[in-house]
Amino acid sequence: MTLPEILGARARQTYYWQVRNQRSRRRSVHGVHACETWHIRHGHPGGAYSDFGHDLTPPDHHSPTLLTRRTYGRDDDQYRGGCLSCDWEGNVAVGPEHEAFNTAIEDAHDHAFPDWRSLPITTHRAELWDLPHNQLRWAQIASGYPRGWAEAGAPLVVWRHRRNDLHQPPHRRRPRYELQVAKPPRQLSATAAGQAELF
Ligand SMILES: [Zn+2]
Repeated sequence: MTLPEILGARARQTYYWQVRNQRSRRRSVHGVHACETWHIRHGHPGGAYSDFGHDLTPPDHHSPTLLTRRTYGRDDDQYRGGCLSCDWEGNVAVGPEHEAFNTAIEDAHDHAFPDWRSLPITTHRAELWDLPHNQLRWAQIASGYPRGWAEAGAPLVVWRHRRNDLHQPPHRRRPRYELQVAKPPRQLSATAAGQAELF
């Protein structure tokens, strides 16, 4: 029996909770556990434990989030990008789990904020200083954003510190993703040279 495909982060999240609460007749057909159905990752927009709650009204602009599921027999979770505004979903991301996690979030930003990779990149990490309380610094960064992007939740892009750093979901004090990007080799070598001078 083929069931109609559920598409979109919101629809999948609703189905996930129906399965969790055993209110879906589909459960007996698939025999799946809730964690094996695609759902919004905890802590990501629209998911459990997100600071942004569970507003039923879709935002009027594309809005990135992260979908995940556990697959029976696999140790690592699977990831794909999602959108809270439309039914778009990214491909299932491949690679080691931390890479797949980051790739899926980047896919969601490619959908919602094409060219986000050209946004200003800061060395300041948001957890070290509170953006809403550092209005001047944030105004400087946001002045390099396309019109309307900052208000629509375009990401904060920061230089990556370690190779396995994960992108960080939005929260109340930073209502946008923090995306970690690798420094180009030239800057890496400049940093190495700077450190060599120090020691
Ligand atoms: Zn969308």
